[in-house]
Order: sequence, then structure tokens, then C-alpha cells
Amino acid sequence: MDRDRLIAAFKKKGYEVSFFAGREEARTYLGGLFCGSTIGFGDSLTLAELELYDLLREDNTVFDPNQCADNESFLATARQALLADYFFTSVNAATEDGVMVNLDGSGNRVAGSLFGHKKVFFVLGSNKLCSDLEEATRRAREIAAPANARRLQTKTPCALGTGICRDCNSPERICNALVIYFRRLLDTEAEVIIIDEALGL
Ligand code: SF4
Repeated sequence: MDRDRLIAAFKKKGYEVSFFAGREEARTYLGGLFCGSTIGFGDSLTLAELELYDLLREDNTVFDPNQCADNESFLATARQALLADYFFTSVNAATEDGVMVNLDGSGNRVAGSLFGHKKVFFVLGSNKLCSDLEEATRRAREIAAPANARRLQTKTPCALGTGICRDCNSPERICNALVIYFRRLLDTEAEVIIIDEALGL
């Protein structure tokens, strides 16, 4: 990874960018950013691995659907997350020229990343980096999605069978919307947090 080139690429797309060598440096930075705010999370294993929920809720109100035990409370918390001051999500893949890709099942993750917050934070590990959009889209659909389906134990071909995406029509399909962030959206601040270690799927 060419760190300086990567940072320059995301800045050119309109994002603030912070780069960290490891998760502890990132946690120290993010833990000092907020006090008394409301913060929403999208579904993200990256955020869970960073243990951001416990870190940020010390001084803020944090809505994290991943903390919920059942679908009803998941949806209620996901709706509250959409109304928070700030929103955190990861992405399934990002290109070296600053384009990001997210695939979603319910839509709460991509919805929160697009509009409604003072600022959105995209947190990604170096394992999400791809050379171009074709590779990034393939990563999202053929690597991240089947791995997530297995983690969630969905009744889908990728989780029950070989681990290969069959572009299924299952009621539990988790790949229902694909968002490509070509550039920072108008009217919402956004910061890309790049961590130089593998995080999430
Ligand atoms: S489309 Fe279906 S088979 Fe393919 S990754 Fe998504 S849930 Fe799995």
C-alpha cells in the first residue's frame, strides 16, 4: 500500500482522511473526538473488532444494531442510528483511487452513510483495498457477502453450501443493494479512517 498516494486519492474525492498504523492508534483518535453526542453505527464487523461501541458510549449515546439480540430491537436501534448526529460504518471494499463499495441487506448501513448526519466516518482496514472498481465490486459480492452470510448463518446457498455466491433469490439474501461512493456526497462531512491492518470481512 502506498500510504501517501492513498491519502491523496481520498482527499481528491472530497474526504477528510486519517491513517493509522494499527487499531490502538485509531481508537485513541476516535475516542477523543466526541462528547455528549449521538452516534449511530451501521452493521460492521470492523467497528465491532475495534470495540468502538464500548469506547464511544462512555461519553456519548451510541446506537449500534449489532448489540441487539433479536430482529425487532435490531430494526428499532437501526432507525435510531439514522437520526444520530454522527454515523459510523465500514465498507466492503475501496479502490486505490478513492472509490468505496458497500453491499447491504436491510439497507440501514447504506442509508446512514448517504444522508442525514453532521458527519459520516468510513472505517476500513487494509484488507478492503482493491486495485480498481471491478475488483472492489467482486470483493464485495464474492468474498465479503458469502463470508458475512456464513457468519450470520443465513439460509442462503453461500452459507449452506460451497461458500460461493449463486446470485440467489433466497428470502434471507443479504445482497440487496450495492452502493458505490464515487465521491463524498454533497452537504455531509465525511472522513475516511484507514487502518493498516486487516479488519472485518
Ligand atoms: S446473493 Fe445470495 S448466494 Fe450470493 S452472496 Fe448474497 S446471499 Fe449469498
